[in-house]
Amino acid sequence: MQPDSTTLPALGQAPALLVRYGELTLKGANQDQFISRLRRNIARQTASIARVRIERVYNRMLVFPEARSEQVGRKLQQVFGIKSISPVWIAKPTPAAILPLARAVFLDALEAARGPGDERTITFRVETTRADKRFPIPSNVFDRDVGEHVLPDVRGVKVKLDEPELTLGIDIRAEGAYLFARRLPGAAGLPVGTSGRGLCLLSGGIDSPVAAWMMMKRGMWMSFVTFHSYPYIGDPSKQKVLALARLLARWQPNARTYVVPFTACQEAIRDGAPESYRTVLYRRMMQRIASKLARANEIDALVTGESLGQVASQTIENMTCIGAAGSIPLLRPLVGFDKDETITVARRIGTFDTSNRQEPDCCTVFMPDRPVIHGELALCEEYENALPVEALVDAACAGVELVDFEGE
Ligand code: ATP
Ligand code: MG
Repeated sequence: MQPDSTTLPALGQAPALLVRYGELTLKGANQDQFISRLRRNIARQTASIARVRIERVYNRMLVFPEARSEQVGRKLQQVFGIKSISPVWIAKPTPAAILPLARAVFLDALEAARGPGDERTITFRVETTRADKRFPIPSNVFDRDVGEHVLPDVRGVKVKLDEPELTLGIDIRAEGAYLFARRLPGAAGLPVGTSGRGLCLLSGGIDSPVAAWMMMKRGMWMSFVTFHSYPYIGDPSKQKVLALARLLARWQPNARTYVVPFTACQEAIRDGAPESYRTVLYRRMMQRIASKLARANEIDALVTGESLGQVASQTIENMTCIGAAGSIPLLRPLVGFDKDETITVARRIGTFDTSNRQEPDCCTVFMPDRPVIHGELALCEEYENALPVEALVDAACAGVELVDFEGE
């Protein structure tokens, strides 16, 4: 894996992917746990593309894909805890080994930066970092040496130190020199699984998938629960939620969805409680059922896509009534988001188009004309006293259907 000037690798396909992690370097004593989790997530999330070998080098990782390196690199952009990814070539940490490889990597990157027939001038710089001071040449001097070595007889390239189009990075370490010209942005955040486990109440809307993704980004391993009221709501609504769960599962090794039959709860509320309180009482039932499923499955917190003031059920009073029904912590990562901000994230993570498909949600079943805006907790509890709440929760949990997705 350490080519010298006589054994240059075939370019166009870097032998390894250099993975830089960001925030987890801040985690002191927990670092090892974070890094081993990241390593496992990388192996599992890339498994369906190619086998990879992973090596830890200083505060980075090297991923060696057996095949399909480009796809593996792109998949790594969906692994939380990674700041950036560079396809790298590796040389012995000596000037004689680095210079010819630098030229080859540079010419390869130049060809990629310029389309066919593209004659425009490309700005360029070399950026050497020298962690191993046994390397005999200071970084800034070596930058120039490399520039002088790679540039002669190449037309249409101009050195520019400030934000050039093309940067040839050379990272010199005791065990080898790493050369790269591309830097793919990672998903950042923390490795999924390092911040406990969450259960996201996933509807077919725009908000809840974004809420799930945001907590996954903070290292929470996410499962999903969706409430479905057959026959009032048809199969396409359920399939839409499962399609969203599948999209979200790309960001972790795998993900389980609990599909809860919710018809009996809604009918009981329709028949036994005032109309204006229906929506709030539906939501309170969802909290109870989700809490029970979470406890039974060692999940630490619930997650919803609620945002303060967005719709009638999301006033502070109604959110208080809803939150009070659950028995484990409830996280609402979008609480301070505007709809536009949520849509921006939904587009970026690829859930928007699926969310935008028009299918009804169970909350529209028996929907009141005038839902309560400033719900009162004491009244919710009074109305629920007339309902067989525990039996409804137990029956709903007993009827759960499980759907698993691998994070392919
Ligand atoms: P979303 O876009 O996520 O549906 P929303 O702005 O439409 O959110 P509501 O429909 O009021 O808001 O729902 C608030 C939250 O309640 C949702 O974000 C979701 O977490 C949860 N929720 C609503 N309906 C369902 C359902 N059928 N199954 C699971 N969770 C649901
Ligand atoms: Mg909704």
